[in-house]
Amino acid sequence: MEARAWIEVDLGALLHNLRLLKERARGEVIPVLKADAYGHGALPLARFLVRQGAGRLAVATLAEGRALRQGGVEGEILLLGSLHPLEAEEALRLGLVPTLSTLEAAQALAGRAKALGLVPRAHLKVDTGMNRVGFPWQEAREALRAVEALGVRVEGVYSHLATAGEEAGFVEVQRRRFQEVQRALGEGYFYHLENSHGLLLHGGENVRVGLGLYGLIPGFGLRPILRMLARPTLVKRLRPGDRVGYGGEYVARGGEWLATLPVGYADGLPRGAVAQVRGPEGILCPVAGRLSMDQTMVLLPRPVDLQATFEVLSPDFGPTGLLAWAQARGTIPYEVAVHLSRRLPRRYLLEGEVLEEVS
Ligand SMILES: *Cc1c(COP(=O)(O)O)cnc(C)c1O
Repeated sequence: MEARAWIEVDLGALLHNLRLLKERARGEVIPVLKADAYGHGALPLARFLVRQGAGRLAVATLAEGRALRQGGVEGEILLLGSLHPLEAEEALRLGLVPTLSTLEAAQALAGRAKALGLVPRAHLKVDTGMNRVGFPWQEAREALRAVEALGVRVEGVYSHLATAGEEAGFVEVQRRRFQEVQRALGEGYFYHLENSHGLLLHGGENVRVGLGLYGLIPGFGLRPILRMLARPTLVKRLRPGDRVGYGGEYVARGGEWLATLPVGYADGLPRGAVAQVRGPEGILCPVAGRLSMDQTMVLLPRPVDLQATFEVLSPDFGPTGLLAWAQARGTIPYEVAVHLSRRLPRRYLLEGEVLEEVS
């Protein structure tokens, strides 16, 4: 690519992950593309997944759903965030399927739909123990009746796990509650419960997957799909006592080679958590001193020219992978992923062929 720094997303790896998740689920696998597909680019991924036959996608917010529609993505888009009454009209106009957790939102949806001559469709969210959004599971039946009495067509009913990947005991509690909800509400609704960790660790029928789709869970054969690459803007040799970067934290012994890479924390590299990058021939190059907003200095065993390519973020679970960054930063991979740069050009590749470029 004619750029000094860019991101590559491997759609083949995305398909591999999707296939693997589908093999484990007994029902439908819903790709979750919220937060710009966890930093991977919602629109290109949505277009690709729809071409691959995905019948239903999920995002968190109305604006995310709008962006997909404006980008030409048709088909069913579920809004995972609980609908606010103020959003009812636009959700209807865009043909998005909102999530209802309150009667106020259901009333707004039904009212606006009537005024616009549209059918109000929705999924009902049931709270089985997370206490974030949803009608209390013990009252699911009354809630469903009340929402349907308003004229809303409830197509799906779902809940969300609070401790998947952390506490199996409470997952079981939530699963039992959700089964009771299913028994009380009966057939005719599309029920879905598990997220990636829920599916991978406990199995599931209809599931909503984000992190697993992006391959950011080790140990199940999933593969990270994103790489960040950069070419140096400057290569030089340090003299003894030279200090590098803000705070002058790295002090040279003298004689080491240094490359400046044009990516920094504004591109999603977590400050204080990127210890090394992969240089030419896969050599691990330590970061020298603090990385800055737009630039990062690394140490080289020997000089390279400005055409050399460095893999700043590699699609694996090693020391230059996203999980290593998250761990060093003391946070979860979700948080690191959603901060990946929007300003770097991106290439979406399938078997080495560029399917889409975003700059
Ligand atoms: C984000 C989200 C998911 C996906 O979770 P992962 O852990 O990334 O698989 C599923 N369901 C809801 C309601 C979510 O908000």
